[in-house]
Amino acid sequence: MLAQLINELTPKQVTLVAVSKTKPVEKIMALYEQGQRVFGENRAQEMQQKYEQMPKDIEWHMIGHMQTNKVKYIAPFVQMIHSVDSLNLLEEINKRAAQHDRCIKYLLQFHIATEQSKTGFSLAQAEEMLQTETFKQLSHTKPCGVMGMATFTDDKIQVRAEFQKLKKIYDHIKTNYFAEDADFREISMGMSGDYALAVEEGSTMVRIGSLLFGARV
Ligand SMILES: *Cc1c(COP(=O)(O)O)cnc(C)c1O
Repeated sequence: MLAQLINELTPKQVTLVAVSKTKPVEKIMALYEQGQRVFGENRAQEMQQKYEQMPKDIEWHMIGHMQTNKVKYIAPFVQMIHSVDSLNLLEEINKRAAQHDRCIKYLLQFHIATEQSKTGFSLAQAEEMLQTETFKQLSHTKPCGVMGMATFTDDKIQVRAEFQKLKKIYDHIKTNYFAEDADFREISMGMSGDYALAVEEGSTMVRIGSLLFGARV
C-alpha cells in the first residue's frame, strides 16, 4: 500500500504523512524500512516516546488538537504542528521553541466540518489573530499553510465542498498575508477515506493512517 500511495502522490508533489497514532514502534519501523520518513501522531507523550525509540531522521508531525501544557514534550524535536487553533497555543509553541533555539513549523487549522467536536479557526478568527502585534512578533514559529478535516460522512459532494472551502481559505490568507512568503504553501487535507478527493481539490499533504497500518481498534 505504501508503494502504491507514493506512486500516486509523488507525481502530484503531495507529501504523505503516515499517521502512526496508537501503532507500536515495530509496525512504524516496517514503513521506515520501506523509506517512509514522515509520521503523524495526535498525542504529545506518545509522540515523545516514539521519538526517543526511533531513528532520528524521522520527521514527526503533530496532527491532533493540543493542550498548551503538552507542547513542552514535543518542542525539542517536532517538525510541524498541523493543529494550531489559537494564539494562546501558538505563543506557547513559540516560547518552547525559543528555549530549544528552534523554529517550529505549523499550519493553521480551520473548522470546515459540520461536527462541533472538530476544532479549528473560522476565517474571521484567524484573520483577527494574524493582525495582532503579538502574532507579528513571534520569531520561533513559522506558518507554512492550513489544515482541515472534512465531516465524517459518505456524502462525497459534502466532503468535496468542505475541501473547496479550505482551499479558498488558503488562497485568501496566502494572497492577503503571505504572498511573498514561499514557505506558506501547504494545504493539509485528506485522510484514508477521502484523500483522493482532497488531492483533486488541491491538497499538498495527506494524513493517512488506517490505509497504511490497518484499522485502529
Ligand atoms: C487519525 C487522523 C488521521 C488519519 O485517519 P485515517 O482515517 O486512519 O487515515 C488524519 N488526520 C487526523 C487529524 C487524525 O486524527
